[in-house]
Amino acid sequence: MNRTTFDYIVVGAGSAGCALANRLSENGRYTVLLIEAGPPDRSPWIHLPIGYGKTMFHRTLNWGLHTETEPGMDNRQLYWPRGRCLGGSSSINGLIYIRGQAADYDHWAALGNDGWAWKDVLPYFMRAEANIRGANSLHGADGPLRISDVGSRHELMEAIIAAGESLSIPRNDDFNGPSQEGIGYFQLTTHRGLRCSSATAYLKPARRRKNLHIITNAQVTRLEFSQGQTTGIRYRHLGQECRASVSREIILAAGAVHSPHLLELSGVGHSDRLRSLGIPVHHHLPGVGENLQDHLQVRLMYKVKKPITTNDDLRSLFGQARIGLQWLFKRSGPLAIGINQGGLFTRVLPESKTPDVQFHFGTISADQAGAKPHPWSGCTFSVCQLRPQSRGHIHLRSSNPLQAPAIQPNYLEDETDHRTIVGGLKLARKLARTEALSLLIGDEYRPGQDIETDDEWLGFARQYGATIFHPVGTCKMGQDKESVVDHRLRVHGVPGLRVADASIMPTLVSGNTNAPAIMIGEKAAEMILADAG
Ligand SMILES: Cc1cc2nc3c(=O)[nH]c(=O)nc-3n(C[C@H](O)[C@H](O)[C@H](O)COP(=O)(O)OP(=O)(O)OC[C@H]3O[C@@H](n4cnc5c(N)ncnc54)[C@H](O)[C@@H]3O)c2cc1C
Repeated sequence: MNRTTFDYIVVGAGSAGCALANRLSENGRYTVLLIEAGPPDRSPWIHLPIGYGKTMFHRTLNWGLHTETEPGMDNRQLYWPRGRCLGGSSSINGLIYIRGQAADYDHWAALGNDGWAWKDVLPYFMRAEANIRGANSLHGADGPLRISDVGSRHELMEAIIAAGESLSIPRNDDFNGPSQEGIGYFQLTTHRGLRCSSATAYLKPARRRKNLHIITNAQVTRLEFSQGQTTGIRYRHLGQECRASVSREIILAAGAVHSPHLLELSGVGHSDRLRSLGIPVHHHLPGVGENLQDHLQVRLMYKVKKPITTNDDLRSLFGQARIGLQWLFKRSGPLAIGINQGGLFTRVLPESKTPDVQFHFGTISADQAGAKPHPWSGCTFSVCQLRPQSRGHIHLRSSNPLQAPAIQPNYLEDETDHRTIVGGLKLARKLARTEALSLLIGDEYRPGQDIETDDEWLGFARQYGATIFHPVGTCKMGQDKESVVDHRLRVHGVPGLRVADASIMPTLVSGNTNAPAIMIGEKAAEMILADAG
């Protein structure tokens, strides 16, 4: 077996992992190994935003996971894509740039996590960001992550915004500005019509550094410990068993599914579970894999009365040529957007102090997110509850590191989640039926007019709901007995090991999770370097 020693080893080159690898190797003082299970990010479908539909079911760029049978979802097993290449899920995601609400992070701090209040995390969002609109008190312009506006205004999206205004929902030109509430266009992690993944942002400029070593197609199978210290990793690369040693720290950034899986494979987890699978217990930590939270999306689809949707563009050769030229000369249009152009944040529960639902608007429709568009003009209003109360878990099935873990999100288990999703769905239909949309929106394709009562809406959510791809919380940060890492992201009771990715969020943020995961990578790197003196 080959064995090499590094100061730091980062496991997983996703949203957080790429930021970590860049920042830890930046001063040239430390040797860093970044190790990624998937291939390099060479596929053009990664870089062209419309490639979302291709990578959604890609066999090598996507882990292509499924949940267990979900009792709250008509006993269905839901498809769970996760990115598996340089850039991780930021290489296959829907490109929407959202940070969440200040109250989300203030809540983390109130739970006892010093240094994670909004005022503390904002500088890391800004450090990461190169916003096309320039810098102000909430935005950065000099960071590696390029943020752009949706280049062109779409007739349907403009009408949707007018429809929202007719329901007293204010137009919002910046969901990451002073207030999240309102309706408008999203900003995207793109630059000149191409995806800006975490790998594009953070690895491209760092790849030539002599002290940064990147290995792809290498799946870490477990961590190694000696005399209580974390000493290295074992991984599979080109059919060979390999090892790498660490002199300072290992940082797990394998995401909300694989970071807890790797901990359990390495003997860190609930001792009963590990023993029952024949895994020697290194440290009893019962919270590993617990506290799973995810955003559930339920999509309403409408027929559109004019042939102005992306379904129409993609259907004909003329349409394809037109959007190809639009991308080539203006770097805008459907090829540059991916899937959703705009959104809405509002409150549907009387007790909510801040928005509790988010809508995603796509001028495209398909039976499943990312699947082949319908052969008619269509659009989608996707509704998701921002702060679900249901909790699930992810645990290993066996000691075989190549067997996917069992994912049990327990969607729609909690009664608050029922009320919120029903309220959101009813608002979506109300929006579609406004006067402002009467000239463009036609029949409701799904769910259809038969659905009227609250119970029927809930039944629809159970029958058709799907992940909107934001699992978090499985290596929760905190001090209670369910927490896995402390506020400096050190694994409780395991010296030399941290976790820094979406899994450390104690509660799900109110929005999409790529920017928050990158922020976590940025902040973790600074804490690690500070602790190194
Ligand atoms: C289809 C899809 C659409 C999404 N759309 C959006 C969106 O529009 N906006 C948004 O903000 N968020 C979106 N998200 C969510 C967002 O991208 C993720 O929350 C975020 O990327 C998570 O970052 P992470 O660093 O925690 O994990 P990831 O980015 O998933 O990175 C984990 C990395 O670790 C690697 N890895 C795992 N196990 C091992 C191992 N054993 N050995 C070596 N490497 C390993 C993985 O291959 C992966 O590269 C979407 C996600 C998906 C999947």
